[in-house]
Amino acid sequence: MAVSDLGTALTEAHGRAQKAVTGRALKELERAWSAVDPADPVSLLRYAESAERIVSRAHGASARAALSYLSRFRKAELNALGLVADGLSVSLPNALASGEVDALVKQYGQGFVARLINSGASAEEAKRLALARQLGGAVDLVLSGGRKVIDDGITRDRRCIGWRRVASGSCCSFCAMLASRGAVYKDQKSALGTRKGNGRGGRGAGVHRACQCRMEPVYSRKSKPTPNEARYERMWRESGGDPLEFRRMVEGRA
Ligand SMILES: [Zn+2]
Repeated sequence: MAVSDLGTALTEAHGRAQKAVTGRALKELERAWSAVDPADPVSLLRYAESAERIVSRAHGASARAALSYLSRFRKAELNALGLVADGLSVSLPNALASGEVDALVKQYGQGFVARLINSGASAEEAKRLALARQLGGAVDLVLSGGRKVIDDGITRDRRCIGWRRVASGSCCSFCAMLASRGAVYKDQKSALGTRKGNGRGGRGAGVHRACQCRMEPVYSRKSKPTPNEARYERMWRESGGDPLEFRRMVEGRA
């Protein structure tokens, strides 16, 4: 959790901002998909174009929201710690490569729907399942915009000593487990999740559509766990470090 109240509020607001960005994009994708007839290539082509536009725009919006959060959060935290907020330049990431949305649409497009129908699903059901897969992938592409900004900021900022995974109270057990580890410090070279990936896997921040975890930069060893993090940490201890038991506790699953 942030050291400052302002930082805490900014992290929460940032979560809401990113949720709004993805929520809007998903709604637009859903609407565009509803006009698709999987047997009609022209309607699929039209959808692919819309999806490209929707996801790219949302990716940019996610990045801008993260950039604004990062600079305000950093200032709030460094001020509260009595540290000088020297300049930090983080730039917006490149636009999504044009093939990324296309690949997603292709993976869960005509062929996917046809296979489901062949294996007994109704056309409607097949279309619904294809959309669900597309939306999952789309959330990840959209949020990769903001994630790259935060990731880059954490890497470049010499005032930043680490980060924590901010997870919601209803995230999956995998995300809960990562959150339960608390702050991960940059000098912990061996800590899981420090490997830099393609911007998606970086800092172990792979994002599930339902969880939408975020990274919060850490500037002081005095920073405290977030309430959810403390809860997951306690559950992890109570589970005796058994992932299955932990999952049962987090997700209420047998
Ligand atoms: Zn998750």
